Parts: sequence; structure tokens; C-alpha cells
Amino acid sequence: MNLKSISTTTFNEHQSRYLQPAIVKEYRRTQAETFDEIRASEAGLILGGDGRSDSPGHSAKYGSYTMMDLMSNKVIDVQLVQCTEVKNSNAMELEGLRRGLRILDDAGVIVQGIVTDRHMQIAKFLRETYQQIDHRYDVWHIAKGLKKKLKALAKMKDCGLVQDWLRALVNHVYWTASSTPDGDKDVMKAKYKRAMNHIRNLHTDENPEYTACEHGDDYPEREWLQSGTKVYDKLREEWLRTRLVNDIGMMSPHAQTSKVESFHNILLHFCPKLLVYSYQGMKCRLYLAVLHWNENCDRAQAVDAEGNPVYRLKYPRSKEGGHTVERVLTAGTCGK
Ligand SMILES: [Zn+2]
Repeated sequence: MNLKSISTTTFNEHQSRYLQPAIVKEYRRTQAETFDEIRASEAGLILGGDGRSDSPGHSAKYGSYTMMDLMSNKVIDVQLVQCTEVKNSNAMELEGLRRGLRILDDAGVIVQGIVTDRHMQIAKFLRETYQQIDHRYDVWHIAKGLKKKLKALAKMKDCGLVQDWLRALVNHVYWTASSTPDGDKDVMKAKYKRAMNHIRNLHTDENPEYTACEHGDDYPEREWLQSGTKVYDKLREEWLRTRLVNDIGMMSPHAQTSKVESFHNILLHFCPKLLVYSYQGMKCRLYLAVLHWNENCDRAQAVDAEGNPVYRLKYPRSKEGGHTVERVLTAGTCGK
């Protein structure tokens, strides 16, 4: 077309001289503002934390770590770690969290609690270094892992009955967390274990191993499991695995990290995993994504011409044909 344009070198120079410094400056300015708001607030800060690797599999060049204020849904810090800075790519998540918490420490921001997925290294680090922070696990991650195990079990010979109970058992995990607002670990473990009594049509605490159910007389009649059968023994073994029961005690009663995952989906738009960026380029893309997210994270629900709130139906794959109802929000400040 014989169209004149600036050279790649000039483009890159403009980017590193003008565009990137502007992004970094604006990110730091808004972060300082957010820290001021948090310090001035009476409510304790509950963080959601999660890592993301920049490529599928374990050969990641960069890992980023996001920390979100789960009350406001604002991303308050994001860290970018290079694989070469740590021993291996698995260690990037922990390093990202470590750096993020240090920034909050330096800014005098007090963290009351943090919700993450089940990452043993991170649990150990928080237990040893930040005893004052109440570390909790995201319920969805625990329920998802358990559901997978139970589904596999339901396919085994003579274990088909597990399928009939699958939904109720998974719901019981959510109920265990949401019905225990103070997050008492022993109470949650006891509530969780009780399911192994309920499925055998035993609802009182006569069996000293489990406490009584809370549903009163109103519970549906269904095909109960019998002690001493293969299906009950297998299910019980899976349900009461020591590590799982301990993790159940660490479930977060209120705040969950699903919004952090939504932010990671937005990141795919700003820094697609198939492309490779320089460290500075990647960092600026993360910062830009944070600026975009924070400007749009507290949008109100949209209303129709008559002023009624708007909803839409969704059919997520995880629901296997079932639907969920979602609020439609007012338009954001840019296309997506
Ligand atoms: Zn019961």
C-alpha cells in the first residue's frame, strides 16, 4: 500500500519512554489511594489471593500473584515474578504472595484474613510467618475436588448410589461453611463428618462418632446407604480423609475467591498466554488490567425501561445442563 508508518524501533521507544511510565505512575497513584481508603476503614481487610502462570503447563516464564480486597472486589496489589528469580515455576506463587504482603506491610495496611486455594507451601508460609493472619481456603475449590472424587467413585462397581447423593453431599460442603459464620474449625469439621451418619438415615447423636443433624423432622425420604456395604465404606473412606477433613476446618465462611478468577479471565484479554512479553511489558499489561478492573468492579445492576433490574440465564458447563441466574450490570468504561 506504500503507506508510511513509524518503525518498530520507534514504536518500542515510544512505548518504553512514554506509555509504560504513564501506566506505572497511574497504577501507583491509584494503589496509594486504595491503601489510604483501607487504612481509614474500620472493617478488617479480607484478601483473596491467587497465582496465575503465563503459559499452560509447568514451563511458565512469568507468574503473577493477585491480591483482591474481597469486600470491595478491588485488586489492591499484583506482583510479577520471573521463573529465573525462584527455584522452580511452582515457587512463583509463593514468592508473589510474599512480595505482595511485604508491600502491604510497608504501607501500614493490616490484613485480617486471606482466602486462597489449597496450596500447601502457602499454608505453611502463612502459618509460620504471618500467624496473625486468618488463612482460609476457598470453598469452591474444595467442593470441586471432592465432587471429582465422588464422581469417580460412583462409576465403580456396586457404588452407583453415590451418584444419587452427589449433589446433596457437595451442597453439604457449602452449607458447612456458610452456616458457620465465625468459621470455628471444630464446628465445621463436626458438621461435615455428620453427613456420613445422615446418609444412613441416622440423624441423632446416639452414634458418639457424629453430632446430630440440624434439619429437624423435615427431610426427604430417599434411598439410604447401609453400614458394612462396599459403597458406604468407600464413600466414608473418601469423605473422611485426614487432609480433607483438616482442610474443611479451614474453609472460608463468607468471602470466596471467585472474583479473583474473574480478574484472571480479564487478564487473558490484556496479556494472552500465547504471546511472550518483556518483563516490563508484561508488568505494564498487568497494571493496565488492574486499572481497568478497579474502575469497573463496583458497577450497579442494569435496569430496563420500566426500572426493573435485569437478569440473564446462563448454562455453565459445570452445571451439566442446569442453569444459573446472573445479574446484568451497567456498561463498563471500555468495550469489555
Ligand atoms: Zn440427617
